[in-house]
Amino acid sequence: MAAHSGPAQAVILFGPPGSGKGTQAVLLRACLNLPHISTGDMLRRHIDLGDDIGTDVRAIVKAGKLVPGDLVNRMVERRIAEPDCERGFILDGYPRTLEQAEVLDKLLKARGIAPVVIHLKVDYNKIISRLAGRRQCPVCGTLYSLATNPPRIENFCDKDGARLIAREDDAEPVVRKRLEEYEIQTRPLLDFFSRSNYPSHDVGTSPRWCKKA
Ligand code: AMP
Repeated sequence: MAAHSGPAQAVILFGPPGSGKGTQAVLLRACLNLPHISTGDMLRRHIDLGDDIGTDVRAIVKAGKLVPGDLVNRMVERRIAEPDCERGFILDGYPRTLEQAEVLDKLLKARGIAPVVIHLKVDYNKIISRLAGRRQCPVCGTLYSLATNPPRIENFCDKDGARLIAREDDAEPVVRKRLEEYEIQTRPLLDFFSRSNYPSHDVGTSPRWCKKA
């Protein structure tokens, strides 16, 4: 893929927790030059701030369940109305339910934005161990994997030296709940995308998007 020109496009990164949506979003952002919209990151920011939204969703996110669709739909609608989204954007973790997909479909049609789905297919057996070894910088958001992409200095971010954290919802019992939510509520969206004729690409774990990546 090359830097995106032409009609505005919504790149929907789709796959189970631990399939690498966040990592691929960062690589794609670099080559397409489109903003990365992660509903999980937006919710975690509210939780860290301890504001009203954060207080409402904290326990739900911690339990690995999906937060109410209305809230997420409103967050995304507001975000994609910002000027940097005019040429398109990369969606990571949204939509996750049929209702969210229908809301998004209307928003995209109203704005003349074409969807494209990138379906990240991953062996489920790898997901739990992969998430157990995931660490994130709380300051710049950089993701590390203790097994495949560790920081140069153990536990500290290469970019800004902040102490890395493990997400509370990466603990094994919560990952199992998140996978269950994915199977029941999110995976069926593949049928919705196909019925709606969204162009869709299945990719493995280490796609090569562009030379820069
Ligand atoms: P993620 O970082 O995408 O794995 O999301 C972390 C958690 O945030 C999920 O387990 C949900 O609790 C919540 N979340 C993120 N995106 C959504 C969404 N589109 N709909 C409902 N809940 C979401």
